[in-house]
Amino acid sequence: MQTKFLKIQNFINGKFVEPVSRRFLDNIEPATGKPYSQVPDSGKEDIELAVTAAEKAFIDWSKKSAAERSHLLLRIADLIERDLEKFARAESIDTGKPITLARTLDIPRAVWNFRFFATAILHTENEAHLTDGVAFNYTLRQPRGIAGLISPWNLPLYLLSWKIAPAIAVGNTAIAKPSELTPMTAFLLCDVCQEAGLPAGVLNVVHGTGPNVGAAITAHPKITTISFTGGTVTGRKVAEACAPLFKNVSLELGGKNPNIVFADADLDAAIAGSVRSSFANQGQVCLCGSRIFVEKPIYKQFVDRFIDKASQLKQGDPLDEKTDQGAIVNKAQLDKVKFYIDLAQKEGGKIALGGKPPESPNERTKEGYFFAPTVIVDLPVACRTNREEIFGPVVTVTPFESEDEVIRYANDVDYGLSSSVWTQNLGRAHRVAEQIHAGTVWVNCWLVRDLRVPFGGMKASGVGREGGVEALKFFTEPKNICIAK
Ligand code: NAP
Repeated sequence: MQTKFLKIQNFINGKFVEPVSRRFLDNIEPATGKPYSQVPDSGKEDIELAVTAAEKAFIDWSKKSAAERSHLLLRIADLIERDLEKFARAESIDTGKPITLARTLDIPRAVWNFRFFATAILHTENEAHLTDGVAFNYTLRQPRGIAGLISPWNLPLYLLSWKIAPAIAVGNTAIAKPSELTPMTAFLLCDVCQEAGLPAGVLNVVHGTGPNVGAAITAHPKITTISFTGGTVTGRKVAEACAPLFKNVSLELGGKNPNIVFADADLDAAIAGSVRSSFANQGQVCLCGSRIFVEKPIYKQFVDRFIDKASQLKQGDPLDEKTDQGAIVNKAQLDKVKFYIDLAQKEGGKIALGGKPPESPNERTKEGYFFAPTVIVDLPVACRTNREEIFGPVVTVTPFESEDEVIRYANDVDYGLSSSVWTQNLGRAHRVAEQIHAGTVWVNCWLVRDLRVPFGGMKASGVGREGGVEALKFFTEPKNICIAK
């Protein structure tokens, strides 16, 4: 079929190729609601080709020195940085996020993912143990083979590179599947990998839907390591597919994160931080603090000032430099947000801000998927709106009276990804942080990242940890060698 749109290609064995089926899906720009490119509708056959390429490439790549692999990863980082503007624009068009956010956060963090793991592999240590004069043990960490890397649409390049960089840095080859909703930056990354001279087959990117491509990756017996980031429902399917094949699996899943503001907090910082953690990327960050709890003495003051600040966020065309709030990723996600707004009102909530799409910002974006930053108050703590992940620009604000009460509220959900705590009391900060069931607790900040720390969720937010040392461990197989004395 002839089309005026750019046709994204798969990247297999170092070459850009059409899917075997020759079928493509429209890639819709969220800000306009219209197609602007096409994405391969790949399937099992394409995964077979990628496995053949990755298996062959593994033979040489796994034997390269860490210095050689490091050099190539650093080159990839440099090239993304050189093309930062191109990547930022592609990410903004693909996802609907403000271009300023893509330029200052997503793309630079992707660069750092490559730099971090490129240098981390030069400084690893091996464990050795002397066994009571009987034997000497040392542990070899070897690449595992082919890694299947499946990522979501909200932070497409950032999350995919967070998987690709450690996987190939330690000598694996990889087959990556970006979300079919946001394929463009992964496509550009393949260009960069080709220019950097990454050997053919080390990174293969196969585009398409979850049920076709994602499921073919998790079902393939030769793809023995799976790193998945996405929703909890999909994560369960991935776990079910991988369990009978005894795959090594890491699951980074959804969140419903508490953001706790004590009366002794620096209120200016807490309000600015909470507006960011509520509405960054239109609330479509797994780490967003979608449940705000505020200590009673400052509840009213906080709500008034929070609403005032949130209402100053400029909504509009993501490509406009002044925009703070862009579009929701697709119609299904927008409908989901609307569903929860109705539900919240049925559950007794009052819409204190937003609750509907904003006025259409301009002619270009009049059919886009926009929704205003929304604040809901007066909801019971245990209702569905307060328990289920909405993944949009919607927060609830609830008062609390004591530390014990707010810890109970914070932990009373299935998820356990992250939390923020705002207080000037150091003892309280430690006490509360220790008791919250979450993989990360930020105190007086949000989204601060140090690549060396373990990252991941508790409960329904995931299994396993990513991040520096954890990722290097996850993507290698430890083998113990025991030598008798
Ligand atoms: P999703 O629907 O679970 O999709 C994630 C990825 O899995 C996509 O590439 C998807 O393909 C693919 N997929 C779908 N069905 C599959 C199957 N049966 N087997 C294998 N792969 C399959 O999630 P999303 O809507 O893209 O992303 C939003 C979710 O991700 C939220 O819940 C958010 O909290 C979570 N998230 C978590 C983290 C974290 O670090 N914990 C970070 C970011 C996002 P398609 O292209 O067809 O969708």
